[in-house]
Amino acid sequence: MPRNNGDLAAALRGGSRRALARAVTLVESTRPDHREEAERLIEAILPATGGATRIGITGPPGAGKSTFIERFGLDGIARGRKIAVLAVDPGSKRGGGAILGDKTRMTELARAPAAFIRPSSAGAQSGGVARRTREAILVCEAAGFDTVLVETVGAGQSETTVAEMVDMFLLILPPAAGDELQGIKRGIIELADLILVNKADGDLLEHARRSAAEYANAVHLIRPALAEWQVTVRAVSALTGNGIDAVWEEVARFRAALEASGAWARRRAGQAQAALWAEIGDGLLERFRAAPAIAARLAKLEGEVAAGKRTPASAARLLLAAFLGER
Ligand code: GDP
Repeated sequence: MPRNNGDLAAALRGGSRRALARAVTLVESTRPDHREEAERLIEAILPATGGATRIGITGPPGAGKSTFIERFGLDGIARGRKIAVLAVDPGSKRGGGAILGDKTRMTELARAPAAFIRPSSAGAQSGGVARRTREAILVCEAAGFDTVLVETVGAGQSETTVAEMVDMFLLILPPAAGDELQGIKRGIIELADLILVNKADGDLLEHARRSAAEYANAVHLIRPALAEWQVTVRAVSALTGNGIDAVWEEVARFRAALEASGAWARRRAGQAQAALWAEIGDGLLERFRAAPAIAARLAKLEGEVAAGKRTPASAARLLLAAFLGER
């Protein structure tokens, strides 16, 4: 076991799985001393990061996300890729606990030496979840993984959180009837770079193909987010593996198109800047809440705002003045 940060960074870059697991645990920790150590580690490995294709995966429960990730991952390994799977679950309050069954969901992939699966650990703060996942991606890249899959587990805000840290966003849907299509949140469709209608096998084959055609019509009506990419819709079967090869080809086509135009690097730069501001916001809020001058006034002012006796703007101005006066 590496004794210090330099050792850990070296072991990580050497591809040690123990070092990888330990590094991910370190970046997930909220202990202040761990946080400092994690920051030093990230700085040490930074030159070795950025190489992977980062793919976000979302979809309603039961659509077949974990079945897909297992199949897609094993196919990727057969193509010589190294696959890391991370999960994001900002909704869960289980601090540090693993999402139940995450490991058993992808048993074959979990056993593969060229794969690394990290069930999500969740915390109450969604900002913290985003940072931990961003850093876990970097750690996986430093360890030589060329494909990082980030799966959203919880519902709610997780899709946007993940979309802000990946290169490509993949939406997995079950075969659905035309009127059910309306039920899928438009915002999520708009995030997707590639839509897969899963379960295109057996009795569901025709149904899945029809759904895919209907989704394709629907997404063509949405103005493309990227000039160089038209969102594609494909029917696949995670169970039989049908169409999974084509997904790997779409991923390569997507990356090539965005790299050629410079959009790939621009997106990454934009994400890094957004992350900087998120860190600034989180850091300021943390200090703000911890400041004695705020603690002394907060409950009373919050009560007054809740009771309608004071406007939020006025309370905020008083608190900010108290906070800044303290500096
Ligand atoms: P998740 O909740 O999105 O992760 O979905 P799972 O991967 O756990 O799959 C939900 C259910 O759908 C399971 O019973 C799977 O066996 C089934 N399933 C997943 N992919 C396919 C597929 O391609 N075809 C069929 N027929 N069933 C599938």
